[in-house]
Amino acid sequence: MGKWKKSVIPLNRLSDAKLNLARAEAWRRVVPLRDKSEAYAAGSSQREANAREYDLLTRELAAIEATIHELLSDRRPRMGALGKFLGLTRVPPGALSQIEVLKNRRSELEARQKNLHGGPPDPARAFATAMERLLRFDREIDRRKRKSEALESLRAAAAFAAADTRKVASSIKRKLERQPLCPYCGYKLNELLHAEHIYPVAKGGRSTRANMVNVCESCNARKGKMTLTAFIKKYELNREAIEARLTALGKEF
Ligand SMILES: [Zn+2]
Repeated sequence: MGKWKKSVIPLNRLSDAKLNLARAEAWRRVVPLRDKSEAYAAGSSQREANAREYDLLTRELAAIEATIHELLSDRRPRMGALGKFLGLTRVPPGALSQIEVLKNRRSELEARQKNLHGGPPDPARAFATAMERLLRFDREIDRRKRKSEALESLRAAAAFAAADTRKVASSIKRKLERQPLCPYCGYKLNELLHAEHIYPVAKGGRSTRANMVNVCESCNARKGKMTLTAFIKKYELNREAIEARLTALGKEF
């Protein structure tokens, strides 16, 4: 049982190859159970014989119980006339020894019945349980595969969108303002302009004139995929001055 759990629980940490192995291993464990349960079904006469014996024992035990009750209720007066006067009664010694024999027989039968009742586990039931687990395991694997496929297509769509954004970027780039200062560091811009996405493409930023601005080479390299806030924070830049320069250029951030 413990071993089984081990192979079922860490599904999300398994690669596809390992998942397939785990699935094969799970099936390998269930197959002998199925064989056993089929053999068991074929030889069901033993089970029927057990059920019949259980039934007979139940009836005999009931008869013993009734006899003991009967013997106990057959009370006789004791201690002669005085006993009779006082209302003293007793179960005759013969009956007591008979009851003793019956009680021994009762515990013997009860033990036999218990043995029949709690006999070996039913392989058919074990198989059904294992099968149910296996199917759950399979469903979990399928669910996981569907999830990873969905994730892949999402990633592909995102990559496509990003590529599209970059393509558009080159056409926007030519239309961008050639302002004299770098809006980020405030130094003079030289001939080498770098069109920068204020909100990064990597995070879903779009190639629009409002989101793109010409910056110096150093700022472009340092900002990379960072957001404006992260960039300002990391290099301890003057947020107010940057925002004023961007606003003057009609940028959104
Ligand atoms: Zn700069």
